[in-house]
Amino acid sequence: MKNDLDNIKNEFLKALEDVSDSLGLEDLRVEYLGRKGKLSQLMKQLPSMAEDVRREVGQLGNDVKKTLELAFTEVSSAMNASEDVARQQTDWIDVTQPGVRPPGGHLHLVTQAIDEVSTIFKRLGFVSTRHPEVDWDYYAFESLNMPKTHPARDEWETFFIGDGGTVQEGKKGKVVLTPHTSNGQVREMEKKQLPIRMININKTYRRQSDASHTPMFHQFEGLMIDKGVTITHLKGVFDYFVKEFFGPEREVRLRPFHFRFTEPSMELDITCGVCLGSGENEGMKCKICKEGWVELGGAGMVHPNVLRAGGLDPDVYSGFAFGWGVERTMVMKSDINIDDIRVLYRNDLRFLEQF
Ligand SMILES: [Zn+2]
Repeated sequence: MKNDLDNIKNEFLKALEDVSDSLGLEDLRVEYLGRKGKLSQLMKQLPSMAEDVRREVGQLGNDVKKTLELAFTEVSSAMNASEDVARQQTDWIDVTQPGVRPPGGHLHLVTQAIDEVSTIFKRLGFVSTRHPEVDWDYYAFESLNMPKTHPARDEWETFFIGDGGTVQEGKKGKVVLTPHTSNGQVREMEKKQLPIRMININKTYRRQSDASHTPMFHQFEGLMIDKGVTITHLKGVFDYFVKEFFGPEREVRLRPFHFRFTEPSMELDITCGVCLGSGENEGMKCKICKEGWVELGGAGMVHPNVLRAGGLDPDVYSGFAFGWGVERTMVMKSDINIDDIRVLYRNDLRFLEQF
């Protein structure tokens, strides 16, 4: 038994000299010092020995165990230290190296266009406002010189708000998702803060969806009201916007039209971005405009009935209003070519990342 203990000690110490890495060292520890290791197996014979021999062998066994553990700890810490050094040489980090930039997104191109439009009008003293997207029929139609029975109201494919097929109704009529930003006109006048130079940009809703329409789109509504505002102010503001947004080479044209809430009313045209107003492109008739001009949106002098609805005296105050779609305006910028406007809202990164 004493010999066996000596043998285990010598075998272990010899094997310890040959071990080359921490995995081999752990195997060795389990083989000799583990719960089922060689030393434990041998010590299991102790209870069958005579008492005096048992005490002596037990003492010797403990000494051997301490010796082995001490030798193991020495080799183990030396090995850990040298492996740390090796790891520092291979796994080091250069903290002065530039980091990897995380992918950065950007604002949606409609948001970019809204920012650009607002900024241009702000330079002329227009103030950005926001009026309700869900509004009374009164502000969306009736106060804009469109009585309930007027057929012009059929032109708007309007969404109504209701519950279980019953359209919600109050003292200012039904509740609608605003089909145009013109609902901000009388609301702005009701603030009684004159003069008014409002730019109301908001979401608008109509029952339509095809290559050039989405059920939700953005409009901006300009409204200027003061004493002595004339159509020349409208033309000046329009001209400034077009040259800032589309480029200084673009010209503007006012073309007579009819709207209920303005008198006189007009469509605002700008020269085509492809042929620059000539109507010809590479010796052929321009495919975009056919005659040199493209339509941007509607405008006009605020109708006296609308001024009255806003509590203003048409003999004292006058003003102009204009409005058109943000998406349409953006697409008309000559460097953007979109076949189907609905792609703006499909969240397709292959498209959005181009801008
Ligand atoms: Zn053209």
